[in-house]
Amino acid sequence: MISRPVVIAGGGIGGLATALTLHQIGVPCLVLEAVREMRPLGVGINLQPNAVRELQDLGITEAELDRIGVPAREWALVGLNGHDVYSEPRGRMAGYHWSQYAVHRGRLQMLLHEKLIERIGPQALQTGARVVGYRRASAGGVAVQVAHANGAHDEIHGSLLIGADGIHSAVRAQMHPHQAPINWGGSIMWRGVTWAKPIRSGASFVGLGTHRQRVVFYPISPPDPNTGLAMINWIAEVTWDHPDEKMLNGWFRQVPTDSFLHHFADWTWDWLDVPALIRGAEYAFENPMIDRDPVPGWVDGPVALLGDAAHAMYPTGSNGASQAIVDARVLGAVMCEAGATPEALAQYDARLCGPISKLILRNRGAGPFGLLNLVDERCGGNFDHIDEVIPAAERDAFMADYKAAAGFAVESLNRAPPTIPPGARVAEHPIAAERLRAEG
Ligand SMILES: Cc1cc2nc3c(=O)[nH]c(=O)nc-3n(C[C@H](O)[C@H](O)[C@H](O)COP(=O)(O)OP(=O)(O)OC[C@H]3O[C@@H](n4cnc5c(N)ncnc54)[C@H](O)[C@@H]3O)c2cc1C
Repeated sequence: MISRPVVIAGGGIGGLATALTLHQIGVPCLVLEAVREMRPLGVGINLQPNAVRELQDLGITEAELDRIGVPAREWALVGLNGHDVYSEPRGRMAGYHWSQYAVHRGRLQMLLHEKLIERIGPQALQTGARVVGYRRASAGGVAVQVAHANGAHDEIHGSLLIGADGIHSAVRAQMHPHQAPINWGGSIMWRGVTWAKPIRSGASFVGLGTHRQRVVFYPISPPDPNTGLAMINWIAEVTWDHPDEKMLNGWFRQVPTDSFLHHFADWTWDWLDVPALIRGAEYAFENPMIDRDPVPGWVDGPVALLGDAAHAMYPTGSNGASQAIVDARVLGAVMCEAGATPEALAQYDARLCGPISKLILRNRGAGPFGLLNLVDERCGGNFDHIDEVIPAAERDAFMADYKAAAGFAVESLNRAPPTIPPGARVAEHPIAAERLRAEG
């Protein structure tokens, strides 16, 4: 038995997916979560087919995902004139072997939490435990410095530390003390959920407007059989030319819908009433669209970054949560080969840090919404037929390129073997076995 657990800082989607993966391959772990109580916070997020595949390999079924969201059928961009710019099927309808899901972020987190308690036990998660730093222990491994909600401080010894502590990561701040401050390009997003009739395919992701001002909306529940209404997740977004740095304080601040509705007052078409959609929400969250500049590496000896701590991205690509899940699975895969060791962390870094750092910068440049930039540049948003502005082949090539970079190109994902072979265990590998023997 490995005597010291892998310590995971943060019980978000990334941290919990890591804990479930480590348990699956036989590595003991302990999750330290800063909040006192796990609660289903946030609104909608997308799980791309590559992440749904990994969740299913973790034993989370489609029936369980159906309880917290809906399989997406379509992804569409619409111009301000109400005409389609681009649309394509998604998930199984696009030929993937796995669905794409639109889910409630908090309910996904709670599902993973429930699995952790069921499979590993309540001792695997300490809440009210904020990781504030780490030091390499002289006897090997890592001493993790923890501030508890009751005011106590202590050190917890682990074989490794995985920093899955989000965009404001304390682990990353220590690993990269000279990192650039949070990057904000001047966009503010307001997010909410409204019960309304789903449009188009009934499970469509729609991005409407320009790259500087748009709404994005998609259902995150099936329609109620009695009313026909579904929970529609919406994001209303405006970009300022001269951003006021004070707005950066508003990280996930609850605001009344009246405070921003005027930006979208005349956004009505015969098939959509954006002001009504916004007004229908009980409350909205305001948050600036922020990310972090890529760092040269995610690993410092026995310590690695994962999820938003490693690669906080603009949500334009809808892949932050998906990538956190994929990170966890790649970490598990390298541990199956090299044990729960710093060598495995170095392999994880070599596989992911370079390509995902490029994806951060690509999402900053509007990600797949870049097609809306092209429409604006070429015709100022006025068009009758999109083919006359951006030929179909160019639109398709643009999207195929993005999906390949984000790791969910259909053929390569379908062809790829499982990230972690079924039944793989960490101790089966000689390096891991040697380390296990050394640890007694
Ligand atoms: C409250 C909340 C609501 C969100 N809502 C949305 C949303 O509606 N839509 C969307 O697209 N994205 C949302 N996100 C971001 C989204 O969840 C992430 O981009 C994605 O899931 C990657 O997850 P992660 O686990 O890496 O980071 P996060 O989801 O940020 O999780 C990090 C976890 O670490 C904990 N933590 C932070 N610092 C420490 C520390 N020093 N020690 C121990 N624990 C720590 C946090 O409490 C959190 O539980 C939200 C994030 C949070 C925290």
